Amino acid sequence: MEIAHGVFGIALWDPSWNSYNNCYLIKRADQFILIDCGKEEQGNELLAALSQIGVDPESIHVLIATHGHKDHIGASHLFTLSEKWIHIQDAARLSAKQYEEFQKIDSDTGELRGLPFTLLGHHTNGSIALYDPTTHCLFCGDHICFFGDKLPQEGLLTSGEDLRVKTRDFVTAWSQSPEDRYRYRFDVFVQGLHLLSSYKEVEFLATGHGPVLRNQIHDFLNSLVAVT
Ligand SMILES: [Zn+2]
Repeated sequence: MEIAHGVFGIALWDPSWNSYNNCYLIKRADQFILIDCGKEEQGNELLAALSQIGVDPESIHVLIATHGHKDHIGASHLFTLSEKWIHIQDAARLSAKQYEEFQKIDSDTGELRGLPFTLLGHHTNGSIALYDPTTHCLFCGDHICFFGDKLPQEGLLTSGEDLRVKTRDFVTAWSQSPEDRYRYRFDVFVQGLHLLSSYKEVEFLATGHGPVLRNQIHDFLNSLVAVT
């Protein structure tokens, strides 16, 4: 589904995890950028979705992984001609072949193909967020995501009031448990929220799993910071 002008959200249903695994294609005048690529076994489904958009795998100029989990990098071998990027902190998660193929981002902030990125480092040490200033889409990987959530009636793109409440409740409960704060590095999570909320013009929050949120994203992120 085209979630913003030239930005396509591809939600691949994963029956073994009972969740959508998301990828995003950014279509520019002169290049195609793919953010994440699903599990290896979802490769055919991803290719079918790209073909619906009119893109073949050889046309993907750049593949950027938000992090190194298999549901985000598993099908990377399909993009034989792409330049591939992952943060160096997640390089150890790559297979030997992927390690050869991927270039490593070695800074905490910067820009890749016109997309500013920032290291969040919570979900995995090398988790990054990418922002598209042209369409105001924020790709946050799994720092916040809607794992296991079904798509609402309106489809992939939603204002998702229920998802906002659910996420706030989750963060609130986490903040109130000293044990979970320590175990799941709550402080690093909160630092990441601050980094995400520094993008003030965001219109779409495109996460690693499930529905894409639209509208008042800055307010939503601030509301999460507020309960921490
Ligand atoms: Zn994931």
